[in-house]
Amino acid sequence: MRLVTFEMPELGTRSGLLVGDRVVEIPGRSVRDILTGGERCLDQIRELETRDGLALGAARLATPVPDPQKIICVGQNYRDHCLEQNAPIPTSPIIFTKFITSLTGPRDNILLPRVSQQIDYEVELAFVIGKAGKHIPAERALEHVAGYMVFNDVTARDIQFGDKQWVRGKSCDTFAPCGPALVTRDEIGDPQNLKLEMKLNGQVMQSSNTSQMIFGVAYLISFLSRTLTWTPGDIVATGTPPGVGVFRKPPVFLKPGDRLVATVEKLGSLENTCVAE
Ligand code: ZN
Repeated sequence: MRLVTFEMPELGTRSGLLVGDRVVEIPGRSVRDILTGGERCLDQIRELETRDGLALGAARLATPVPDPQKIICVGQNYRDHCLEQNAPIPTSPIIFTKFITSLTGPRDNILLPRVSQQIDYEVELAFVIGKAGKHIPAERALEHVAGYMVFNDVTARDIQFGDKQWVRGKSCDTFAPCGPALVTRDEIGDPQNLKLEMKLNGQVMQSSNTSQMIFGVAYLISFLSRTLTWTPGDIVATGTPPGVGVFRKPPVFLKPGDRLVATVEKLGSLENTCVAE
């Protein structure tokens, strides 16, 4: 199932089910409400798949879960990405966060802040929590995943490296495009064998596979659950493979008019255009 949040002028913001090129409205509940309702609620929603939907063309796709309690990111989590920056392979996950105000839709513009000259892209696999919990063993961790999304961890490198920690450079408005839908876990199978790719103006900049992750989805859920309580709707972006702009020779940074297409196998693509603030 592909859960979305969408906007239409006559409806406002609604949750829906993406079926091909149409969207079936889910009455009265946000995507986070649906996830909180658990498997039973998802089974009820599944029955809507046969209904007539609205043409997707008339809607703006918003970020699938607009109101998570947490957005957590993992730094340096691909072996090949560590190699490109001559960084040692981490022995424990490097965790940082993004603010909820960074979230933006899968077709929306990315605003390039006036104060940065070094804005970069990072294609990532994100997972969304479905089942709450704490102290979760890794072997049961995937049961806590509702589904997966494509995520672009947009980053102002000059702010990231200039500050003593990463949050400000990672949390600018619009720096977390994700979607296009929240694809439920049953459609994905093994999250550690998905191709992912980033194109900038049609040119492939990043191309790898989630098999290159150092700390996989199950480990990350278990590791973080030692110190925090997972709640339905929490989003985790799992790190980026090599090919980011800052480590290229010469470096490549985003400018107004640039078009980014971030793709993860089975999940679809984000298509965002960069605009000056
Ligand atoms: Zn990242």
